[in-house]
Amino acid sequence: MPTGPEGSAGLLIIGSSQAGVQLAVSLRALGYEPPITLLGDENHRPYQRPALSKEFLQGAITKESLIYRTQEYWDEHRIRVVRNERIIRIDKRDDGSGVAHSMSGAEIAFDRLALTVGARARRLLVEGVDLPGVLYLRNADDALELKARVPMIKDVVVIGGGFIGIEAAASLNKMGRTVTLLEAGPRLVGRAVGAETSSYLLDHHRQHGIDVVLDADVRRIVGSGDRVAGVELADGRVVPAELVLIGVGVIPNTELAESIGLECDNGIRVDAHALASDGVTVAVGDVANLPNPVPGAPEGDRIRFESVNNAVEQAKVAAYAIVGRPEEYAGVPWFWSNQADLKLQIAGLSAGHDLTVVRQDEAKGKYSVLYYRGDAIIAADCVNAPLDFMAVKAAIASGAAIPPGEAADPAVQLKSISRNPS
Ligand code: NAP
Repeated sequence: MPTGPEGSAGLLIIGSSQAGVQLAVSLRALGYEPPITLLGDENHRPYQRPALSKEFLQGAITKESLIYRTQEYWDEHRIRVVRNERIIRIDKRDDGSGVAHSMSGAEIAFDRLALTVGARARRLLVEGVDLPGVLYLRNADDALELKARVPMIKDVVVIGGGFIGIEAAASLNKMGRTVTLLEAGPRLVGRAVGAETSSYLLDHHRQHGIDVVLDADVRRIVGSGDRVAGVELADGRVVPAELVLIGVGVIPNTELAESIGLECDNGIRVDAHALASDGVTVAVGDVANLPNPVPGAPEGDRIRFESVNNAVEQAKVAAYAIVGRPEEYAGVPWFWSNQADLKLQIAGLSAGHDLTVVRQDEAKGKYSVLYYRGDAIIAADCVNAPLDFMAVKAAIASGAAIPPGEAADPAVQLKSISRNPS
């Protein structure tokens, strides 16, 4: 552990998940020479999270396969990886250098700071949430606990029909558990996909055996003895459960940033170079609130993404800023969600659309919804339709047109009707 001024951490990256790892890797790829310390509060080597609710939970891959890089890589690239240290206080000077204080009492001097501290699972505030068998799924320890309990149980209730809830529900259903999914809103994944896609996902998961309850008003979690026994809804119904998994969104970890005076508003406010309001600290990933990078986005529009793609792309931009070759973050956001055998890919942002076009090939299990604003295609939700996804992503990036009148026919390849701007 580097402590005191002599052992400066150099660039101290707090948070060693996707954004932090990518920042360190990109900096070395750009020839950045000063010391880099990549610090995380978990007692694991930096690992990938997306598979936790899917392949890892289902037992298709091992814990080791989630590890990003070998120790040889970190050593060779002179990136000091520190685990199991939680930073609780930072003293920062105007030039961006300072000292970080950890819970264990370590004092870590740094020349520059990067905050890639992510977000934490929002807690559900109802009676019974502290019962054994009520779990969240955000990190590897959560996933290990969930995985260890699954062989001992049959009935599962998942609270929250967002990405985490639906992916975990689909995995647990595939593993032979009886799954009830309780979503507070009127449709599934309401924050990320349009109404048609929600409806498609609802039908699909119900047909595959998940009991999905929409507009579910969870009153409390009930237990018998010291174990969870079910979830009580406002209408008095109690859904039996030996395990309850909660996925009701996340809260960005802005506390450290706020404590050092950085502007925060639904995340740490950064510019198009990932620089925070002090002009020197960078913030990247789920915690960052950034200018909307989509080509043609309204002036002044800001956004906070919770996605791997953003963590990677924004980290690259931050690395360019740190090495003094600033490049603005611009690009088409994309997301994916594997829900058992269903692969959902989302290109662009559908907010503000005024037309949707549905393409469906029932025989092949392909389903896409294209979103338009005026004549311009702005987004697509694509289920088991990777070619549609790629064509729309490319069209948004280049400003090409995909005529809505021709797009509805699933026999037509979108790429073949995509017209470049003249
Ligand atoms: P999320 O996508 O925000 O979804 C949370 C869901 O829970 C929403 O549908 C929300 O409904 C619902 N909800 C909120 N309060 C509820 C309540 N009291 N009872 C029942 N439902 C309730 O968040 P998440 O699924 O927890 O995912 C956490 C994070 O992991 C997000 O950052 C997510 O993007 C990320 N993640 C991403 C992927 C992926 O990209 N494939 C996969 C897993 C996780 P309302 O919208 O109506 O409030």
